[in-house]
Amino acid sequence: MGIVSKETSPLVFDGHNDVLLKLYRAGGVSASDSFATGREGAIDMPSAKIGGFGGGFFAVYVPSPVDLEFKFEEMAKPAYDLPLPDPIDWEDAFPVVMSQAAILFDLEKRGALKVCKSAADLRATLGSGKLAAIFHIEGAEAIDAELNTLEVLYQAGLRSLGPVWSRSTIFGHGVPFRYPSTPDIGSGLTDHGLRLVKRCDELGIMVDLSHLNEAGFWDVARHSSKPLVATHSNAHAICPHSRNLTDKQLAAIRESDGMVGLNFAVAFLRDDGRMLADVPLEQMLRHLDHLIEHLGEDRVGLGSDYDGAVVPEELTSCAGLPKLRHAMAKHGYDETLIAKLCHENWLRVLEKTWGA
Ligand SMILES: [Zn+2]
Repeated sequence: MGIVSKETSPLVFDGHNDVLLKLYRAGGVSASDSFATGREGAIDMPSAKIGGFGGGFFAVYVPSPVDLEFKFEEMAKPAYDLPLPDPIDWEDAFPVVMSQAAILFDLEKRGALKVCKSAADLRATLGSGKLAAIFHIEGAEAIDAELNTLEVLYQAGLRSLGPVWSRSTIFGHGVPFRYPSTPDIGSGLTDHGLRLVKRCDELGIMVDLSHLNEAGFWDVARHSSKPLVATHSNAHAICPHSRNLTDKQLAAIRESDGMVGLNFAVAFLRDDGRMLADVPLEQMLRHLDHLIEHLGEDRVGLGSDYDGAVVPEELTSCAGLPKLRHAMAKHGYDETLIAKLCHENWLRVLEKTWGA
């Protein structure tokens, strides 16, 4: 209790991180040790303890061979339009997904986290000392057209899936990193994509709308029976980036009783869309205000994109999260709302999506 618990609670459970990709690049399972002892990066056990980070969606993502330095340089400009990377074949994607999933299960074996497969799992794990992790795949390149791999991955614990990262898959099309831009770029889900959404609904795998283009978004809205969820996207009305959600999309998310996780990536936060880290926390509050206004207090959460994005200077690792809680309180959010934003809304929507 006292000062410490105030700073680290309510625990943050959030919609997206890329720490598995970082560990994969750092040597795979052999890099798992650094997660427990401390590493260069946004999420590890010591930082989680200091910041009150309780877990979230752990993304498995197959990287495109892009020049990151070029990408970040371009995105620091006042306007940009990066080409979409080429599609990746199933044969190339599958082993990468297996390797990153193996890191997730290795972290579980070591006692750092629990791979949660139900809302009850999540509730039991949050605050237990272990991180509550959801096995999520960002971009469905490793899923075959017959969906056989989906069945097996579900049995292995997969509970959330983005049909696309930005590049196209056999299921649909994402948005390129473009500012300023509407998200209405390109065609919607393919027939394979519609079948994927249906099967995810049946199995209890959450379909993540972040990265999908607008036509794909509306296809999911029309064909899914579940709440609409964007794990890491922001308000297009404030930052008109292709990756952000228009007020019309927010209305559909509200209607479905879904939710949005606030992305900490500066390019999706700043009014000018630039990839520059000098962003005051107040800018995050502006997005939260807008999201709450359009979605209601029960349908907004966090989706940091930690270990996958340039984030505001004050929040470079999850150890900085007490500053965000403090900024929320200073902004006038009461304890109930802060708890909802920090993790309760994620529990609510996952319970509804997966079943109790
Ligand atoms: Zn992403």
